[in-house]
Amino acid sequence: MLDRGGFCRFFRLIIYSGEGAGLKNRKRHVNIPIFIPHLGCPNACVFCNQRLISGKKEFSPDTVRSEIETALSTIPAGVEVEIAFFGGSFTGIDRPLMINLLDVAKEYVDSGRVGSIRLSTRPDYIDREILDILKNYPVGTVELGIQSMDDRVLAASRRGHTALQTETACRLIVGYGFRLVGQMMIGLPGADEESEVMTAQEICRLGASAARVYPTVVFRGTELAAMTEAGEYTPLDIETAISRTVRVLEVFAAHNVPVIRVGLCASEHLTSAEEVLGGANHEALGELAEGELYYKIICRELDVAPPRGGRFIIFVPEGEFSKAIGHKKRNRERLMSRYALCGITFREAPRLRPYQIRIDTL
Ligand code: SF4
Repeated sequence: MLDRGGFCRFFRLIIYSGEGAGLKNRKRHVNIPIFIPHLGCPNACVFCNQRLISGKKEFSPDTVRSEIETALSTIPAGVEVEIAFFGGSFTGIDRPLMINLLDVAKEYVDSGRVGSIRLSTRPDYIDREILDILKNYPVGTVELGIQSMDDRVLAASRRGHTALQTETACRLIVGYGFRLVGQMMIGLPGADEESEVMTAQEICRLGASAARVYPTVVFRGTELAAMTEAGEYTPLDIETAISRTVRVLEVFAAHNVPVIRVGLCASEHLTSAEEVLGGANHEALGELAEGELYYKIICRELDVAPPRGGRFIIFVPEGEFSKAIGHKKRNRERLMSRYALCGITFREAPRLRPYQIRIDTL
C-alpha cells in the first residue's frame, strides 16, 4: 500500500460525485490517475508494497501525455476532470520531474480539456516552499496520506512522521486555499477503534473536504507480512474491518465530510492468495461498510418507534439507493426479519444528505 488515492490501476477512471458540493449541485467527477511508483520515497511504511498495487513496474514520464489522451477519449461530456498524480509522494520526487509533470498537466488545464490538478503526498513533504510552487499551477486538491493521528500507531507503522507534522501540513494546505483530502487507514499496528475514531475526527477538524478510508491489507513481501508471520501483528478479519470502518464513516457523516473511497479497488492482484497474506482483502468492502452504516441508522430509527408488522417506505439520499439496500439486498432482508415486517420499499429522495433517511408507513 502507499499514500494513495489512486489505488485503482492506471487506466481505471475514478468517478464520483463532486466533493464538498451541495447535493443539488453535485457534478460527476473523474480523476485521470497518473500513478508514480515510489519515486522519491525513502520511507518504508510497514504496509507498503507499491509496486504490487500499481500493477506497473516502471514509470516513464514520456507516457503521461498518451495516458491522459487515452483517458480523455473515454470521458463523457459534462464531467469535471482532474489529472491526479497518485502513488509515492508527488511533492517528494525529483524537483525537475515534478515541475515537468505539472507543466504537462497545466497544458491540459489551459486548453480547457481538464479542470484542475490533484496530487497525493505525505505530511512531511508539505511546506511553504512546495506549496508556493503548487500555487503557480492549477492544483485544486492535495490528498494527504495521514493514515493515523496517533503517534504510537505512526511509529509502529514506521511512517516516519508525527501527528504534529500532519496537523501542520493540513493547516498549510487549507491555508493556501487547496482542497484537502485526508486518507486514513483502519487496522494499522497499534491502532484500535478509539485511535481510528480520533483520527477521523482530526481529519474533519483540520478542514478536509473529503476523505478516503483504507482498511489494512497485508501484502506478501511487506514488513507487515513479516510482523504477521512473527505473531507481532494480527490482520483484520472482514467483520472487524467493516465494524471499525463503520465507526469512522459515522464520524465523517456527522461532519458532512464525504468519503470518496472505502477500501482498495478490486483487482486480481488484491484477491490473490499468492500476493495477499491477510487483512481486509474483500472487493466489496466499501459497499459492505457503507451498507452496514445504513442498516445501523435505519435500525436506530425503527427502534425508537418499533414497527408492528407493517409496510414501510425508507427514503434515502439521491445516489445512495444501493448502499442503503445493502450488498445483495442484505439490509432489506435483515430488516424484514428483525422487525417482522410485511414489506419495505427503498426510494431515493432529494434534499437528503448522505446517511440521512426518512421512514414513512405505507
Ligand atoms: S510513504 Fe510509505 S506508504 Fe507512501 S509510498 Fe512511501 S513507503 Fe509507501
